[in-house]
Amino acid sequence: MTATRSTRQRDVIARVLTEAEGPLAVADVLTRAQADLPGLGVATVYRTLKLLTEQGHIHPVTLDGEARYERAGRGHHHHFSCNSCGRVYTLHTCPVALPSGTVYPGGFIVEAHEVTLYGKCPQCARAGLSGPAAPAGAGGSPH
Ligand SMILES: [Zn+2]
Ligand SMILES: [Zn+2]
Repeated sequence: MTATRSTRQRDVIARVLTEAEGPLAVADVLTRAQADLPGLGVATVYRTLKLLTEQGHIHPVTLDGEARYERAGRGHHHHFSCNSCGRVYTLHTCPVALPSGTVYPGGFIVEAHEVTLYGKCPQCARAGLSGPAAPAGAGGSPH
């Protein structure tokens, strides 16, 4: 029943992207989807992401040269990229006071804008001021 299995893969991957804190890289999608689909491979993730994109459920976002995917239809939003953990979050507040139709000196009429914010996410900010957490000598199995 290949059709059933691929439907389930599609459902799980779509759900992972719906529940994500922001756009996910392919490797993140793979890791999170594997919680429900232990045998899932990266080729299937690529194929499924392509399919979901063609169907208009998700769309690709390029941040810092890396392709990520997010659910379509989120409305106007921005992204916050954490410099510490590398996660990207979706922000629903707009930090830019540039309504469509704003005219810049020289006659440039603004229709849209893109802004990515960089910094520390709430988790990393809480984790603190002590820099990157050093692995507390847990035997150090090389991995
Ligand atoms: Zn972070
Ligand atoms: Zn905005």
